[in-house]
Amino acid sequence: MTPYIIVLLFGAVIGSFLSVCIYRLPREESVAWPGSHCPSCRQAIAFYDNIPVVSYLILQGRCRVCRAPISIQYPLVEAANAIGYVVVFGMFGFTAVACVYAALVSALIVVTGTDLSHTIIPDAVTLPGIVVGLLCAALILPIGIVDSVLGVLVAGGILWFLAWISPYVFGKEGMGGGDIKLMAMVGAFIGWQPALLAIMIGSLLGSMVGGGLIAVRVMRREQYIPFGPFLAVGSILALLFHQPLFEWYWSLIDLPG
Ligand SMILES: [Zn+2]
Repeated sequence: MTPYIIVLLFGAVIGSFLSVCIYRLPREESVAWPGSHCPSCRQAIAFYDNIPVVSYLILQGRCRVCRAPISIQYPLVEAANAIGYVVVFGMFGFTAVACVYAALVSALIVVTGTDLSHTIIPDAVTLPGIVVGLLCAALILPIGIVDSVLGVLVAGGILWFLAWISPYVFGKEGMGGGDIKLMAMVGAFIGWQPALLAIMIGSLLGSMVGGGLIAVRVMRREQYIPFGPFLAVGSILALLFHQPLFEWYWSLIDLPG
């Protein structure tokens, strides 16, 4: 039990840093400097007010100095990353592989946040992510370098093709270059077959949620719906569950006799 509490706390602390990345990367600010400060009054946030999730609850979502509301995004990102780490280490054990997957989950949380708030998937995450994914595949991950390179080409290639064809088919821009680089990164970490599954799950979720939001008139048909968050959720599900899903799929096709 204790190791998981440490993982949970560690995940929350990293999540706190991810929130800073989500806020600053689309604004092209440094994620390292200056330290956390209130976006309203610019006052530095004391360490005791910077405890993940807990501080938000104690301060009831407001800055201690100026009482300006603090975005709910902060505790949500911290909690999501903490839970993500517990799930990853629970499934893959306390291994180097689990550390790599935890880093991938964090990267996916950052691009979800920036795509939702600014419709931006930062190159600062995805381009180094592709390189790190290839290196980890060559050195640590079970998939190996060949599957990793195929993952970059197949997943990135499909998204590139969809981006190229969607103005002709759907009459509007379907997705951007950020989505292409995002899935190239995911392909580098999880290999080409799970990456395909990730795109399928992401597309399914995107059309269901998007269609639902249009049906209940929260969104209009011509409004832009960021695709990145759906791809990120699809990627995490594919990372965790591709093995049982593929086995189930083959069991449907591979009938006895
Ligand atoms: Zn303030």
